[in-house]
Amino acid sequence: MNDDPLRALASEIQACTACPLHRSARQAVPGEGSAESGIFFLGEAPGYNEDVQGRPFVGAAGQLLDELLEGIGLERSKVFITNVVRHRPPENRDPLPDEVTACDVWLNRHLEILRPRVIVTLGRHAMYKFFAGESISRIHGKVRRTAEGLAIFPMYHPAAALHQPTLRNTLLEDMAKLPGILDQLERERPEPSAEPPEPPPEPPKQLSLF
Ligand code: URA
Repeated sequence: MNDDPLRALASEIQACTACPLHRSARQAVPGEGSAESGIFFLGEAPGYNEDVQGRPFVGAAGQLLDELLEGIGLERSKVFITNVVRHRPPENRDPLPDEVTACDVWLNRHLEILRPRVIVTLGRHAMYKFFAGESISRIHGKVRRTAEGLAIFPMYHPAAALHQPTLRNTLLEDMAKLPGILDQLERERPEPSAEPPEPPPEPPKQLSLF
């Protein structure tokens, strides 16, 4: 019996056969990190290195993500990092809609456990989970709420900056906004009431006549 819900969920994901990707991948990459900062990063899919190590963002794109986190003084262990699909697609092709849908259950379970303050989507596949059909060039770097009230902060995928170096500055600028956004979301949270609730009134005492 596993009493750490994240670990228990990782074991379930490792055993997942809900889509064909598990057949070609070496292993599942459930995600890693914690709820400590309130930030949840959602990428696209494991690549070669992630498939070998069973950890998200450990290749070249992961190195850039680490640098971006370092740039705002955030330790990787304080954020949670996962992907819209948890098994590597063959030849690093884009995940197919059915594969993404089959993996939704794990995203929902992670969000239930971690209850992040903000979900940072990396790239358009992750952004589409919340804003299908949107354009990343239009909505990156701004917080937007879903109808359910989740706060989403879309960013470009770090791998995009490896191919298109001008995006590196955009990623740096967007990441630099995150601490202020967390503060703003914290201020918007309803204040927990400081005063204990009033006790119910005492029932009237029966007057004794004698
Ligand atoms: N790209 C992703 O989207 N996810 C990873 O885990 C690694 C690279």
